[in-house]
Amino acid sequence: MELRDHKGRKINYLRLSVTDRCNLRCTYCMPEEGIEFTPYSKMLRLEELAGLAARFITLFGIDKVRLTGGEPLIRKNIEVLIEIISAIPQLKDLALTTNGTRLAREARAIKAAGLKRINLSLDSLDKDRFRKITGSGNLDDVLAGINAAKEAGFPPLKINTVLLPDFTEEFEFIDWANSNGLILRFIEQMPGVSGKSKSEFRGGITESELISRLQKKTGKVELVGDSEDELGKHTRRYRVMDKGWEFGIIPAVSVPFCGDCNRIRLDCQGTLRSCLYSSETIELRGLFNASDEEFIEAVVNFVGRKTGRPLEHIGSHMSLIGG
Ligand code: SAM
Ligand code: SF4
Repeated sequence: MELRDHKGRKINYLRLSVTDRCNLRCTYCMPEEGIEFTPYSKMLRLEELAGLAARFITLFGIDKVRLTGGEPLIRKNIEVLIEIISAIPQLKDLALTTNGTRLAREARAIKAAGLKRINLSLDSLDKDRFRKITGSGNLDDVLAGINAAKEAGFPPLKINTVLLPDFTEEFEFIDWANSNGLILRFIEQMPGVSGKSKSEFRGGITESELISRLQKKTGKVELVGDSEDELGKHTRRYRVMDKGWEFGIIPAVSVPFCGDCNRIRLDCQGTLRSCLYSSETIELRGLFNASDEEFIEAVVNFVGRKTGRPLEHIGSHMSLIGG
């Protein structure tokens, strides 16, 4: 059966946050005072996460799964989860979002296990600024990870770059991505830390600010279309006309993408969320032994109640939900 929310939107995309732990501490994602991580005793085993994902795929026709976190590549034996999920025949796409710091050592194994695509988050090409944003990150590890993913045979990586308030590297990023066969998307910064309302939130650079800045630096920049990807249909593709460079912008704040939302989110504790901005959840850990009928009833009732509170404040920390 199809899974539809209260507005009749078809849900075919599951974001699976496999851990809320991370080896980085990006300022816009983790709260300054630190985070209380899920105790290991409450974290679902990989087989349990795989079992829940399998039910979504086989019972509801979910055909797209993205593994996220925290940092998914710090979850031990992640390739086991990839192997189980990728073997489900109904699944069309299995992707991963990573900070890239462990990619150099994992790329071959996750490719062999059946992972199809990688999105990599990178917010600065300057070593010092990168370390400042991430707390302790080493830019060279990420760049090595990008090369390793290419060598392992992954299709061109999508690079996600958050437009932080002090971001000035747009020219460098666009040049670098286009010269290295990478698909670049700038993302407007969202209120990423739970509980902060939009009014308290100091946003970053907007799509229109970035484009007008770029026009001054590079000459004509044209919108060449909207493309559909895992963040909805709102990746706007731009071209720097003189150079032929392309890049995307996801205007997550100035043009909210709720209208064509097709996803649900499951975290490492087995908590299901139908909207990033809603604090309404349902616990699936109690349903491991439920019949398919009971599972369907619980999930359909929950997703059918989808409320969403667009862009007011997110229901939990980004690192638990997985972005
Ligand atoms: N650790 C992995 C990573 O960084 O790619 C996966 C988890 S991270 C929470 C998923 C995505 O959420 C990343 O691309 C990150 O940049 C994005 N993200 C986190 N906080 C954000 C915020 N406040 N605004 C926009 N994007 C955010
Ligand atoms: Fe970790 Fe990703 Fe959040 Fe950065 S954005 S702190 S890498 S989970």
